[in-house]
Amino acid sequence: MNHDVLLTLGYIAASVLFILSLRGLSSQETARKGNVYGMIGMAIAMAATLLHGAVSFYAFLIPAAAAGAVVGAFLAVRVAMTAMPELVALLHSFVGAAAVLVGMASYLGAGEHDAVHLVEVYIDIFIGAITFTGSIIAFLKLRGTLGGRPLLLPARHLLNLAMLVGSIALAVPFVGGEGDAGLVPMLVMTGIAGLLGIHMVMAIGGADMPVVVSLLNSYSGWTAAAAGFMLGNDLLIVTGALVGSSGAILSVIMCRAMNRSIWNVVFSGFGAAPPKKKSTEGEPQLEVQEIDVVGTVSELMAAKEVIIVPGYGMAVARAQHAVRDLTNLLRENGTNVRFGIHPVAGRLPGHMNVLLAEANIPYDIVLEMDELNDDFPETDVVLVIGANDIVNPAAQTDETSTIYGMPVLEVWNAKRTVMMKRGRAAGYAGIDNPLFYLENTRMLFGDAKATVDGLVTELRQQTQAEAA
Ligand code: NDP
Repeated sequence: MNHDVLLTLGYIAASVLFILSLRGLSSQETARKGNVYGMIGMAIAMAATLLHGAVSFYAFLIPAAAAGAVVGAFLAVRVAMTAMPELVALLHSFVGAAAVLVGMASYLGAGEHDAVHLVEVYIDIFIGAITFTGSIIAFLKLRGTLGGRPLLLPARHLLNLAMLVGSIALAVPFVGGEGDAGLVPMLVMTGIAGLLGIHMVMAIGGADMPVVVSLLNSYSGWTAAAAGFMLGNDLLIVTGALVGSSGAILSVIMCRAMNRSIWNVVFSGFGAAPPKKKSTEGEPQLEVQEIDVVGTVSELMAAKEVIIVPGYGMAVARAQHAVRDLTNLLRENGTNVRFGIHPVAGRLPGHMNVLLAEANIPYDIVLEMDELNDDFPETDVVLVIGANDIVNPAAQTDETSTIYGMPVLEVWNAKRTVMMKRGRAAGYAGIDNPLFYLENTRMLFGDAKATVDGLVTELRQQTQAEAA
């Protein structure tokens, strides 16, 4: 078969597999299969690219690809689930850097340039540089190396606009320049775009970083698509468009779940000032009612309907396996146990679903917020495990709250709500939670893993004692 035909077939197969992969990733039952499709697609894409007629420098290419694969596998195996957004941010910076380097190489390597090709190179470098520096800042903010507070320079929107206009203006001497005359405008624009990436992400609060990572994911896709046009590579165009649009859709879904617009996330400097609080000076400290493990188990044994609401704290404590044991014991006792998953529970979309699936909790008892929010009044016990903002009633009642309007799980409607956390600390949004002080709420203080382990041991003992 002709070499070009083989290459095209490889590219088509990889594109189809990438589409199947995205489709698979849209639900947790099929996510594993989706990942496998993606891996096969990427293997085919890499093999086809390596066999491309223009590729010759194998002595360098193969060791480089092998080294990259080893580093990637090492990082992916070691990374904790809670650090996943950080790793993703870092990987996006590589896409941006690659786009800039490929764009520059494409400019310097091709003798004659036509205007269309130059525009493609320019766009590729521009988005690539923004993605590169923006992702590094997002990575540093997520790691805590840089503070989470947004940097709000005076006239910052004007500054962004000036950098954008400056970059567009530099395209004129770049495209029009004779010979290598476009080199200087290209390098200046790369610098400006890099600064724009830094400034845009610095101006966004740490709390919004996961949305920014998703947005940068989208940018990295568009960079790849631009590179595809530049290099005349159909597979890069298709893959880039898939990544670009899915990243954009995910960003919008995350914003909706937080009841914010994408513009509000990117331009408002959310999290700059501590949220407005009514003065509590002189007021007595509100009392919480505590419960212990034995008391919680007694309530659980008497309950027919139980809903477990996991949050970030369950992830940090790695309590999901203990939660599975607890669920199994309760189900063996004839209790109906379900999980209520908020769309932004934890620190990345699907965070809770991944952890629960890892612990082999059956999918059919893991429900989305909208599927069970009306069922709380008929629920005997709700166990809130390391979640806070996503069960905060202030989102519905306090107009001054920064999370006002965010949809939340209405756990306070249940007959009993047990909040499991270490202390009275706030959640990600940094605000107080009136749920702690409600009449039917009980606080079960302690590390989520240790507490759930305690519940499992106690429940086992009480069940055995009852059976004997
Ligand atoms: P929160 O951050 O609101 O609360 C987590 C709670 O867990 C804390 O109050 C903490 O209290 C407790 N906790 C921490 N460690 C432990 C531990 N080891 N054992 C027991 N408890 C622990 O998490 P939620 O999941 O409720 O809400 C997610 C937040 O993240 C929302 O504000 C959301 O908007 C935001 N967010 C999420 C995104 C996503 O994609 N999922 C994206 C962007 C933002 P204490 O210290 O007292 O134990």
